[in-house]
Amino acid sequence: MKKFKCPYCKGEVCGHLKKSFAGSLKSKGIKCPHCSKRLTNGTVSAYVNAGIWTLAGLLEIGNFLFVEDYGMNFVLLLIYAFVLCRLYDAFFGELEPSMRLEY
Ligand SMILES: [Zn+2]
Repeated sequence: MKKFKCPYCKGEVCGHLKKSFAGSLKSKGIKCPHCSKRLTNGTVSAYVNAGIWTLAGLLEIGNFLFVEDYGMNFVLLLIYAFVLCRLYDAFFGELEPSMRLEY
C-alpha cells in the first residue's frame, strides 16, 4: 500500500484512510510524526471537492423541481457527494502544508 510523504522532511506520514480525513487546506489536518508540521490535502483536491459539492447542489435543485418523492434522494445525494470527496482524497493528490493561520 502506498504511503504518502511529508513535503518538509520526505518521511512517510500515513496511508489512504488517514489522508482522506486530513481535511482541506484551511483545516488543522494531520501532524507529521517526524517533524510535527501540519499537513492537509492539496490545492487540486480543494478544486475537485468544490466541483463535487457544486454538482451535488445542482442535482439537489433538479431533485426538488422534477422528482415527486425527493426526501430520500436528498439525503442520498449528500452521502454520495461526501463519499466521493473522501474517495478522491484517499487515492489522488499529495499531502501539502496546511495554510491555516494560527493567531
Ligand atoms: Zn515531516
